[in-house]
Amino acid sequence: MAFEGLSERLQSAISQVGKGGRITEADLKQMMREIRLALLEADVNFKVVKTFVKRVNDRALGSDVLESLSPAQQVVKIVDEELTALMGGEHVPLNYSKQPPTIIMMVGLQGAGKTTTVGKLANYVSNDGHKKPLLVAADVYRPAAIDQLQTIGQQLDFEVFQLGTQANPVDIAKQAVEQARRNGNEVVIIDTAGRLHVNEELMEELRQIKQAVQPHEILLTVDAMTGQDAVNVAQAFNDSLDITGVVITKLDGDTRGGAALSIRSITDKPIKFTGQGEKLDDLDVFYPDRMSSRILGMGDMMTLIEKAQRDFDETRAAELSDKIKDASFDFNDFVEQLDSVNKMGSIKDIIKMIPGLSNIPGLNEADIDEKDMVRVKAIVQSMTPHERENPDIISQSRRRRIAAGCGQTLADVNRMIKQFNQTRELMSQMSNGKSKGMRKMMNQ
Ligand code: GDP
Repeated sequence: MAFEGLSERLQSAISQVGKGGRITEADLKQMMREIRLALLEADVNFKVVKTFVKRVNDRALGSDVLESLSPAQQVVKIVDEELTALMGGEHVPLNYSKQPPTIIMMVGLQGAGKTTTVGKLANYVSNDGHKKPLLVAADVYRPAAIDQLQTIGQQLDFEVFQLGTQANPVDIAKQAVEQARRNGNEVVIIDTAGRLHVNEELMEELRQIKQAVQPHEILLTVDAMTGQDAVNVAQAFNDSLDITGVVITKLDGDTRGGAALSIRSITDKPIKFTGQGEKLDDLDVFYPDRMSSRILGMGDMMTLIEKAQRDFDETRAAELSDKIKDASFDFNDFVEQLDSVNKMGSIKDIIKMIPGLSNIPGLNEADIDEKDMVRVKAIVQSMTPHERENPDIISQSRRRRIAAGCGQTLADVNRMIKQFNQTRELMSQMSNGKSKGMRKMMNQ
């Protein structure tokens, strides 16, 4: 998970100062040393680290941290503000053209996640109210790239424009934009070619596409896992193309986070999105302040709420609420609920976003095992439709048959039914306003 090490080290560095009330200049110096090491270990560019530490230090000395009775809180505030500033301060939204189509050109090295991000972005703009995004296959050198984009297009039910591998990428881009104008596609996303390394031939081709279609956005995808290389790549693409923003991919697999912390101050271009997984909805809008909060263990409720809203279907929720009230909440609904929680991300990620929870020892390790989900579904599928809709009729002998039907043990089936009953009970209490137990749980 992103920033894991940095998060731990920064929090421990800061918590040291809070221990004995007031702090001395020597304590502050020691903390700055720890912060510096934490950032360097997270693979943040050394120039960026130097400037950052100096700014935090100057502010801490200039404010009343040394006099304060709660120095840790003040230091957290300063580090939080400086981390936010380091990642760009304000969130910079996607620049939609007033006159559609909005043309987005995706660039980046091979393997950075460009083609996947084209799909994720199309999904995002469509959910953001911009209709019929057109995906454009302008990477003619890697034959599989066109197939890959077509598969993504099919999955999302969006049109893909392609002219095969013999056409010129500049012509492809131009014709795609013309077609989008005719057909009312509100956004055009061009998947351009990549190379293993930055090279002049590639840059020349990308400049020609830029010249030909005048994109509103040139978004660079960089792979977070490549650390400082990602920063160098960003600098090279920016020098050649004057990009408008960056998408940092694979942040889910990067425990250090150095690229995310360095790119803005090295290129002066905003990070607009982060890729958080391989699925087509694993794209997060980037908010510097929220990311900083997460790094410092202060949670990120806004993103959590937005994720929940994204997957929240109001009509369905009302139906479920009625089902709970008239006691007809069944196994089909249970599986649907599990799926929708799973869609929000791993439990580990969700815990990180809730203020305070990530600091509770042991909770960090919690995770729903994907295999558990598969097991629950297999058990439900092994029931007859009548049983699924009537949870209370399932006797011991039926449980045995269900277990045999899906290759699980009787204990697995018993556990799953117990879990179902507990969920049903909890939901019924909550819907009846008896949420005291729940509140007590949350306050702990
Ligand atoms: P391209 O060569 O730049 O077009 O890269 P692809 O889109 O083909 O992606 C390369 C690999 O990275 C694929 O296996 C993707 O599934 C994977 N990938 C892309 N974005 C992410 C991400 O945000 N997280 C993870 N874990 N994998 C990603």
